[in-house]
Amino acid sequence: ADAEAFVALTPETLPTKLGGLDVLKTRIGSDPSAWRVREVGDGNLNLVFIVEGPAGAVIVKQALPYVRLVGESWPLPLKRSYFEYNALIRQADRDPGMVPEVFHFDRAQAIVVMEFLNPHIILRQALIRGEILPKIGKDLGRFAARTLFRGSDLSMSARARKEDLALFADNVELCDITENLVFSDPYFEAELNRHTPQLDGLVAELRADRDLKVEAQALKHLFVAKAETMLHGDLHTGSIMVTKNDTKVIDPEFAFYGPMALDVGMMLSNFWMSYFSQRGHEESGSRDEMRRFLIGVIDEIWETFVAEFSHLWRTERTGILYQRSLFEDRGDALGAELALSRVLGDIWTDMLGFAGIEMHRRILGLAHNADFETIADLDLRGACEAAALKFGRHLAVNRRSITGLTALAGLAERLD
Ligand code: ADP
Ligand code: MG
Ligand code: MG
Ligand code: MG
Repeated sequence: ADAEAFVALTPETLPTKLGGLDVLKTRIGSDPSAWRVREVGDGNLNLVFIVEGPAGAVIVKQALPYVRLVGESWPLPLKRSYFEYNALIRQADRDPGMVPEVFHFDRAQAIVVMEFLNPHIILRQALIRGEILPKIGKDLGRFAARTLFRGSDLSMSARARKEDLALFADNVELCDITENLVFSDPYFEAELNRHTPQLDGLVAELRADRDLKVEAQALKHLFVAKAETMLHGDLHTGSIMVTKNDTKVIDPEFAFYGPMALDVGMMLSNFWMSYFSQRGHEESGSRDEMRRFLIGVIDEIWETFVAEFSHLWRTERTGILYQRSLFEDRGDALGAELALSRVLGDIWTDMLGFAGIEMHRRILGLAHNADFETIADLDLRGACEAAALKFGRHLAVNRRSITGLTALAGLAERLD
């Protein structure tokens, strides 16, 4: 049979197109003509609709054959929706309750129908507003440990892991975005780059910094070659939705097999950027309490990640690596603990590097963060961004000799 032609949904056509699905009638209401549809996508790439009716509401997310932010001149394949769907169902399995439930997937139309998170808001917006979120550090640290451990050769059967490696290896175009926009473009005068004019001098310095360029390429080398687990791939504070008591991770369309340290580093980097942006959001009062909260969250994410990863190492190490037959089963529990320390040590070092270059690409590259962009005074914005750029340079270049988060909190305070 011919492949079914792709047609982009509109609020007007959506009820007719999806109204025949029982799973949606049950969740929204049995009469599709009574569904109310709003397009709410604020992302860069896709269409997102809220569909509401008498029985409830769902989210309908549809990929377009191009980058929404730029238009048809930048084509991007529909299959990213297939990777998002496959990542969501795996994450739901590996850390239950942390991603929206999927109700329906249509591969030809690149549609994922999922749970409407309500009254959740995007974490980045909450941090800009200065909201304290008591559960976020533990939730995100556990999510990282569980998804990264359970998607790897430490846990999966060799066949299942290799089949997933092959499945996600086709996500070439979204990896290509990261490979260029994150690891290379910030370090030369690439066409899509922009930065706050006040940063001209510092930007020239960073682009002439040979040690930094070598580190950025070493990290890119890890990104493309170290296929150790299924990553979210875009785990910044705009891909996390929150209430005071609940945390959910959305938007895993960049999922692929890559280095464990990437998701953790990108996440911590976005909390550090929030820290450096706080000075730009003090019109209605000091953000000192917020700064302490953010430093605490960074500690808590890392400590929870280490604790949960270690727990899984001791209780769920069922894959082909560091087998129990070599260690515990021979009475050498210490050997397994030493191997764990070494694995965590490597993740720590690489995590710092990914965190550093994520800061650079968000300030020098194409995709900027609302944390800084919402600071209207360009002198103030530039000062916040300069501190983050210097901090990021330190993380990337000195990552092998940084021993803990306490020293980094001190450095952040001095630069801020
Ligand atoms: P993109 O891939 O285009 O970035 P996202 O998945 O990030 O799309 O979604 C864009 C926006 O739509 C989010 O920032 C959020 O505001 C909203 N959104 C997405 N998924 C949900 C959901 N499950 N529940 C509620 N809002 C959502
Ligand atoms: Mg998004
Ligand atoms: Mg978004
Ligand atoms: Mg996305």
